[in-house]
Amino acid sequence: MYDVIIIGAGAAGTTAAIYAARRALKTLVISKDIGGQAALTSHIENYPGVDLTGGIDLMMKFKTQAEKFGATFVFDQVNEVKKEGDKFLIKTSHEGYESTAVILAFGLTPRDLGAAGEDKFRGRGVSYCATCDGPLYKNKITAVVGGGNSALDAALLLAKIASQVYLIHRGEAFRGEEILISQVKANEKIEIIFNSEVKEVKGDKIIGSIIVKDKQNAEREIKVNGVFVEIGHEVKADLIRNLVKLNEKNEIVINANCETSEPGIFAAGDVTDMVYKQIVISAGEGAKAALSAYSYIQKKSGKGAAGIDWGTKK
Ligand SMILES: Cc1cc2nc3c(=O)[nH]c(=O)nc-3n(C[C@H](O)[C@H](O)[C@H](O)COP(=O)(O)OP(=O)(O)OC[C@H]3O[C@@H](n4cnc5c(N)ncnc54)[C@H](O)[C@@H]3O)c2cc1C
Repeated sequence: MYDVIIIGAGAAGTTAAIYAARRALKTLVISKDIGGQAALTSHIENYPGVDLTGGIDLMMKFKTQAEKFGATFVFDQVNEVKKEGDKFLIKTSHEGYESTAVILAFGLTPRDLGAAGEDKFRGRGVSYCATCDGPLYKNKITAVVGGGNSALDAALLLAKIASQVYLIHRGEAFRGEEILISQVKANEKIEIIFNSEVKEVKGDKIIGSIIVKDKQNAEREIKVNGVFVEIGHEVKADLIRNLVKLNEKNEIVINANCETSEPGIFAAGDVTDMVYKQIVISAGEGAKAALSAYSYIQKKSGKGAAGIDWGTKK
């Protein structure tokens, strides 16, 4: 039985873990990875106090700091959150856990392509992170799907590694920064395919080709070894859909103290309805969510709410 279980180890979840552990709460963080989205970028220049850093380095510091104060991390996927009486039951792919309070910090997940065969080849040629998986495609044929900065970035990155990159966008113009667009257009390894969508991902055990359909419904089969889906991120809220109030974008509605509509459940970071999605904001909300969780647990046992957190524990 934990005092608080935090779902997600991005900026929000790891900061919540620092604050919860410093309040001597028995704290468990369950996450599919460490660092979340911040770990996907090698250039962070706007985190206060840190001039320029790689995302993984910054996020590992958050985690180490949380562990220093006693938080435990488990790598797993949470599939169910249930309230039973006074406690919460959290089911992962491998275990079941119980806690008095829960902090939802599971951020944003890459949007699915929605093509036939996508699920079958997920992780076997269909990837959602060029930075993570790109190096596996040395001298291979790849396709990137999307028309914004992430897709342009991914295409440029892959052009340095792969033998050929198809950049497939359903619109007739890119939405990204001009400088990236001109670099993509000037790159001989990148073939741009506008006004088209990937209809199907085909293969045997691993991906072999994609079927691309244009606006006139003309289809073309392209031989590829990998497809990178770069069409944005979204909140995957099925986990908590019946527990807490969501807005029309599936974001978790919170108040200024990171409380959700369900007592005992708090939320922080990109998963919430806060407009600005940034590392420093997720971290700040993680801190608030942990202090609110602490107050909730204190009140349940008839004690005082959380004050501010400063000073060093001796
Ligand atoms: C490429 C890129 C570059 C960026 N650059 C910057 C930048 O320079 N500066 C800046 O301030 N912001 C930047 N951002 C935005 C910033 O990264 C995010 O706003 C911030 O990291 C969000 O943190 P979070 O903890 O709220 O969520 P996330 O980072 O999304 O973390 C969510 C965590 O939850 C885990 N998770 C999800 N579902 C489950 C589940 N069911 N079970 C268990 N775990 C789960 C995930 O694995 C992840 O660890 C960038 C984002 C991207 C994608």
